[in-house]
Amino acid sequence: MIYLDNAATTRVSGEVFEAMKPYFCEQYANPSAIYSFAGKSMKAVDEARRSIAGLIGAQPNEIYFTAGGSESDNWAVKAAAELGRTKGKHIITSTIEHHAVLHTCQYLERQGYEVTYVNVDEYGVIKLDELEAAIRPDTILITVMAANNEIGTIQPLREIGAIAKKSGILFHTDAVQAYGHIPLDVDELNIDMLSASGHKIYGPKGIGFLYIRKGVRIGSFVHGGAQERSRRAGTHNTPGIVGMGAAAKLAGDGLAERMAKETALRDHLIRRVLTEIPYSRLNGHETDRLPNNASFCFRFIEGESLLILLDQQGICASSGSACTSGSLEPSHVLLAIGLPHETAHGSLRLTLSEETTVEDIDLTVEAIAKIVERLRSMSPLYEDFVKQNQKKEV
Ligand SMILES: *Cc1c(COP(=O)(O)O)cnc(C)c1O
Repeated sequence: MIYLDNAATTRVSGEVFEAMKPYFCEQYANPSAIYSFAGKSMKAVDEARRSIAGLIGAQPNEIYFTAGGSESDNWAVKAAAELGRTKGKHIITSTIEHHAVLHTCQYLERQGYEVTYVNVDEYGVIKLDELEAAIRPDTILITVMAANNEIGTIQPLREIGAIAKKSGILFHTDAVQAYGHIPLDVDELNIDMLSASGHKIYGPKGIGFLYIRKGVRIGSFVHGGAQERSRRAGTHNTPGIVGMGAAAKLAGDGLAERMAKETALRDHLIRRVLTEIPYSRLNGHETDRLPNNASFCFRFIEGESLLILLDQQGICASSGSACTSGSLEPSHVLLAIGLPHETAHGSLRLTLSEETTVEDIDLTVEAIAKIVERLRSMSPLYEDFVKQNQKKEV
């Protein structure tokens, strides 16, 4: 099997799993308990919190554990809306956010909030002039993702952070794809809230965090016990937290080398696909993109058929986001970068891991080339297109 769907989820790394193991059957105490048996669990939670905070230049007490990226996004956006409602009810986001942010914004619209969805350019980069122009006296939140999960484009966070700061507006970023994959510093980038998730960085599923800058007084999202400074109730997921801490530490330690290795492999993949497969295009920015993300469209191809045939060869890939597969609507991200529906339907996302090899990539490119040729040979649209082109040449 060749697994190239690491934007959907990653394998838990062996080191992470080993770090988690004692917290199931041995150190199972509730970290909040008084006895010394629980102290070890709390110490492990604190240590994880330090590693996790260190990766983004935050203080440990600004990290609030959640059940994952979706919860963190929901918390940040809904609680910021609630906090700001005396000032105003206007929120700014982008057209290419993950559904955890987009659907939360749509929910708030039904509650009487107004949302401006700022456009992106053909590479998926947010239009900063449109963002600035969208700011109003009643704007209370800017939420723009750090890097896109489908096309890999990295957003100009520094510029967005500066605009938000200048205007006195809270800035949240969904960094689920970026955290642990590229360097991020909440102070340099003026980020007030940041969402991340364990299972996108070789950690376990069901654990994530929201960074909340000290002094940002958004309310609690899950009410109950006094965990997480009374801001996120629920018994600590000790194994999950320990796992995410170990994953964050590993991500930080090898970041520069891993980025260089993944970028080289990614560019090899992109080069081969674009030169060897006719009528193919790269989606997203050529250089301002996640080191492990390659996203393509193949004209005259149905992405779903391509995925099924790749699966028959043991290759796991995606046509966009896991959330859109199963629906016939093309991805909102591919439409937002200006692709026509037919082209957007022929999308393929390949996302590498730290274990992906050049052999994996070469086998995959060869498989794609064959499948695309086969699918096109059965396509009346492609046949017409070829005939018309031949006429032109005559
Ligand atoms: C995966 C993902 C999420 C959701 O995270 P979960 O931990 O699966 O809830 C949110 N935003 C982006 C950009 C993602 O890639």
